Amino acid sequence: MPCLVDLHCHSTISDGLLTPVELVEHAALQGVRVLALTDHDDVSGLAEARNVAERHGIAFIDGVEISVTWRRRTLHIVGLKIDPEYPPLAEGLQAIREGRHTRAQGMAAALDAIGITGSLEGAYRHAKQGIISRAHFARYLIEKGHAKDMRSVFKKYLVKGKPGYVEHEWASLSQAVNWIIESGGVAVIAHPGRYDLGRNNMLLLMEEFRSLGGTAIEVVTGSHSVEQYQEFAHIARLFGLAASAGSDYHGPAHSYMDMGRLPELPAGCIPVWQHWPEMDNAADTHIRMEAH
Ligand code: AMP
Ligand code: MN
Ligand code: MN
Ligand code: MN
Repeated sequence: MPCLVDLHCHSTISDGLLTPVELVEHAALQGVRVLALTDHDDVSGLAEARNVAERHGIAFIDGVEISVTWRRRTLHIVGLKIDPEYPPLAEGLQAIREGRHTRAQGMAAALDAIGITGSLEGAYRHAKQGIISRAHFARYLIEKGHAKDMRSVFKKYLVKGKPGYVEHEWASLSQAVNWIIESGGVAVIAHPGRYDLGRNNMLLLMEEFRSLGGTAIEVVTGSHSVEQYQEFAHIARLFGLAASAGSDYHGPAHSYMDMGRLPELPAGCIPVWQHWPEMDNAADTHIRMEAH
């Protein structure tokens, strides 16, 4: 039986392909009952999404996915149940978005240097509503025939060591966790299986995250393999962290997993939603308060 909670997805406010309204309508069609919108570094889709969610009887959770630099690597920290208007959070996200504009100029200059022109304007054409992201550069590069799909365009141009990649300093881990917690939310490490940290650094990250007041890690996500569900269920238990679940949906054909298709958390996980009143909404649709 699929888990009808989805606590990680993207709209056109960040690098998703569906508007907040379309995204919530898609979630409703897919049977999602408890939904968090977690755009990268931007909360401006939440009010609209909440509105539509309520019309569909979906319990809506205010979320965000914050870009962080930790030990010279980029990590993503999801905030759930945040107050999007809490000034330190809103100002922190604003500063990250400004940093994205600066990075975009650097990326465009780097692409210019290898003869790919027009990428700044081209990327912004794909990013009308909110943040500017590597995904928008990817869409421009595909449009111009420099690669055939998202996977190959990242591999060829947009990852570390490739010509369009620009080093960037995001928020610190403690800033991101503090903004989230102080705004009344809970902090979750997004898709830990995607970080190339090595075992020791992974354990150090968990330790530091927990001591900063972090609550959960994503165990079930479109970015994890089935083996990784078990691996991170184990790590969560080891550190006394709760487990979260989210598709990381970015739109049709741009996602590893569709909404409403997540498997349930592995046995022994404490769901991050364990004591959430929003879960009552799901009682009639088989959502379990605890993993089976
Ligand atoms: P940014 O936060 O601007 O650096 O962009 C990162 C975003 O690009 C991620 O959130 C993904 O949506 C997307 N992305 C990163 N790596 C890949 C990849 N290999 N294939 C497809 N999309 C990717
Ligand atoms: Mn993304
Ligand atoms: Mn992410
Ligand atoms: Mn994401």
